Amino acid sequence: MSDSTFDAVIVGGGLSGGLAALALYKARPDFRLAVIEAGKTLGGNHRWSWFDSDLDDRGRALLEPIRKTAWTKGYDVSFPNLKRTLHTGYTSMASGDFHEGICRVLPSEALLLGRKATDIKASGVTLDDGTRLNARLVIDCRNFQPSPHLRGGWQVFMGRHMRLNEPHGAEHPVIMDADVEQLAPHGNGGAYRFVYVLPLSERDVFVEDTYYADDPKLDRTALEGRIDQYCHDKGWMEGVPVAHETGVLPVLTGGDFDAYQREVRLPGVVAIGARAGFIHPLTSYTMPIAMENALALADKADLPAAQVVALFEARARRHWNNTAYYRLLTRFLFFAADPERRYVVLQRFYGLGQGLIERFYAARSPLRDRARVLWGKPPVSIPRAIKAMFQPGKPLRKPRNSDSPAASSTENTA
Ligand SMILES: Cc1cc2nc3c(=O)[nH]c(=O)nc-3n(C[C@H](O)[C@H](O)[C@H](O)COP(=O)(O)OP(=O)(O)OC[C@H]3O[C@@H](n4cnc5c(N)ncnc54)[C@H](O)[C@@H]3O)c2cc1C
Repeated sequence: MSDSTFDAVIVGGGLSGGLAALALYKARPDFRLAVIEAGKTLGGNHRWSWFDSDLDDRGRALLEPIRKTAWTKGYDVSFPNLKRTLHTGYTSMASGDFHEGICRVLPSEALLLGRKATDIKASGVTLDDGTRLNARLVIDCRNFQPSPHLRGGWQVFMGRHMRLNEPHGAEHPVIMDADVEQLAPHGNGGAYRFVYVLPLSERDVFVEDTYYADDPKLDRTALEGRIDQYCHDKGWMEGVPVAHETGVLPVLTGGDFDAYQREVRLPGVVAIGARAGFIHPLTSYTMPIAMENALALADKADLPAAQVVALFEARARRHWNNTAYYRLLTRFLFFAADPERRYVVLQRFYGLGQGLIERFYAARSPLRDRARVLWGKPPVSIPRAIKAMFQPGKPLRKPRNSDSPAASSTENTA
C-alpha cells in the first residue's frame, strides 16, 4: 500500500478519539483526518451516560448527530437512610449509536476500522498490515493502561439491558441504589455495592450491578446472580435480554503522575484520553473531560504539533493536580470504613446541595464545595478518617486477561 499524508491521525476510536474526530471535523472539514480503530466499530461496547451539567452548549451540539436517551425530570438515589430525587437532567448513549452517528458525519475514508496501529510516532503511524500514515498531528486515544505508578482500587460492574413483556413502571434513572446488600469481607475482600437503573423506554430497562473493590476481579457469576435478584425483587423477570456490558475501571487514591506519564507518553504525540490520565478519580467517568479535550483540540489544531503536545501535557498535569481532592475522597471511601459500611460516605454526600453534586461529577468542585463536603460530623470514625488521608493505596496491578479493563464489553444478544 502506498504512503499517505494526513493533517491529523487519531489512534483509538473510543470515547475520546470519537469525540475528537467529531470536533476536529466540525471545526476543520478541510483537514485530512484519519481515525484508526482496532475494533470493527467505533466506541467499543459501552453505554456512556452523563448529567446535563457535565456539558456546555458546545458539547451538547457536538453530540447532536448521535441518538441518545434523555431524562429531563432528574434522577433518584437510594441509601438505607436517604431516598432522594435530584432534578438534574441525565442522558445516555449506547456505543452502537455513537458509531452510527460518527459514521454518518465523517467521510468513510477517514475511518480505518478493524485496523491496529503497531508503531506510533510523532511523524506518523504504522498499521498492522504495514501501511504507513504520515501525519502532522498524531493523537493517542488508546485505552487506559493500569500501572504500578497509579494507586487505588477498581469499579467493577455488569449491566443488563432487558426488554420486558410488561411496562417496568420506573420513571427516573436510579444513579445509585445502595439500599441493597453490601459485600462483606470474604471472597473478593468486601466492597461498596450499588445498582444503577436506566428506564430506556416503557418496557426497556438497563440494570447494572457495581462494586468498588480492591481487586479488579470481575465475578461474572456473582454479578449475574445479583442482577437476577434485583430484577426479581422489582418484578422485572419476564422478557428478553438485549445486551450485556461489563466494566473494570480504575478508581484512584494516589500515585506518581510523573512516573506514569513517562510510562505511557510517546514523544511528540498528543495524548487526550483516559490513558493520559483524564479520568475522574472517584467515579472513573471521563465524558465531561473527554468533551473538553475534544473541543480544545479542535480549537488548537492549527498550532505546530509540538505546541499541541505541550498544551495537552500541561492539561493532564493540571487535571492531576486539580483532582487531588477527589483522590482524597476515594481514600475515605476505601479506607475510612469497613467495606459493608462504605455506603455511609456516599449517603452523606448525596444529602448535600444539588449544585455541589453536579460540580463534583464534572470534577469542577470549587474550594467552597470541597470544604462543605469535609465540613461537619464525618459519617465514619475520625481516627480512621485521619489515617485514611495518609494511606496511599495499592499499586494498580495489571488485571488478568479475563477481567481486564480492555475486556470490558457489551454483548448484543438480541
Ligand atoms: C462499560 C463501561 C461503561 C462506562 N460508562 C461510562 C459512563 O456512563 N460515563 C462516563 O463518563 N464514563 C464511562 N465509562 C468510563 C470511560 O468513559 C470509558 O472508559 C471511556 O471509553 C474512556 O475513553 P477513551 O477514549 O479514553 O478509551 P476507550 O473508549 O477505551 O477507547 C480506546 C480505543 O482505542 C482502541 N485501541 C487501542 N489500541 C489500539 C491500537 N493499537 N490501534 C487502534 N486502536 C486501538 C481500542 O480498541 C478502543 O476502542 C465507562 C467505561 C466502561 C468500560
